[in-house]
Amino acid sequence: MNGESPLKVKVLTIFPELFPGFLGYSLTGRALAENKWSLETVNIRDFAFDRHGSVDDTPAGGGAGMVMRPDVLGAALKRHYSGGRLINMSPRGKPLTQKLVRELAAESELTIICSRFEGIDERVLEAYGAEDVSIGDYILTGGEQAACIMLDAVIRLLPGVLGNAESAASESFETGLLEYPQYTKPAVWEGREVPEVLLSGHHRRIEDWRLAQSEEVTKVRRPDLWKKYLDSKTN
Ligand code: SAH
Repeated sequence: MNGESPLKVKVLTIFPELFPGFLGYSLTGRALAENKWSLETVNIRDFAFDRHGSVDDTPAGGGAGMVMRPDVLGAALKRHYSGGRLINMSPRGKPLTQKLVRELAAESELTIICSRFEGIDERVLEAYGAEDVSIGDYILTGGEQAACIMLDAVIRLLPGVLGNAESAASESFETGLLEYPQYTKPAVWEGREVPEVLLSGHHRRIEDWRLAQSEEVTKVRRPDLWKKYLDSKTN
């Protein structure tokens, strides 16, 4: 794990003003202010060479939309990519999972490419060995939103960012199960009671109840995770 030195994040985008965006608030914002991670944005448009500042062009082979030019992005990468993991946000990428998030949180430097429209000329991604990462099976308008979500998940795992280290360990996915339901005060709200066991003060019974709830909700909502969980228990 990167214990002392802050995680260095570089983002290449045509909308640098979107950063830090919501990462500037709450836990991730405090972590930025406390130098637990650092942010550098690179405006890809600064590397355009025509007088209109174009970064994209029509797709080879025809079709809708525009594609980011390899020469423009290549020039930005040549100047600003200094090693470490290079990630391109893309619906064609490998799915972002908590496992990948944990891996990224252990890096010392992440460079992230955000694009719009139809995406990026494949040659520049190949030349720089960029990894495509997807945040889910749906299409957004731009990579910036996806990058912020990925970074949010990564930053909260950096040392000292979460106040209560325990809360990271029991959360959905970390155990292979979805989390049990949560309750707080008042004990009765509009006739609905907090489950009696949670008020019993009986730690063993509470743990058993929570595990049973986690198993139940995972079985019903996510048969895919449930199967993996059962397999991991028998192996
Ligand atoms: N035509 C492309 C989608 C382009 S969406 C395709 O079908 O694959 C425009 C940009 O938004 C993408 O280049 C990518 O940077 C970002 N984006 C959209 N959906 C995303 C997702 N699920 N995960 C990560 N990035 C995404």
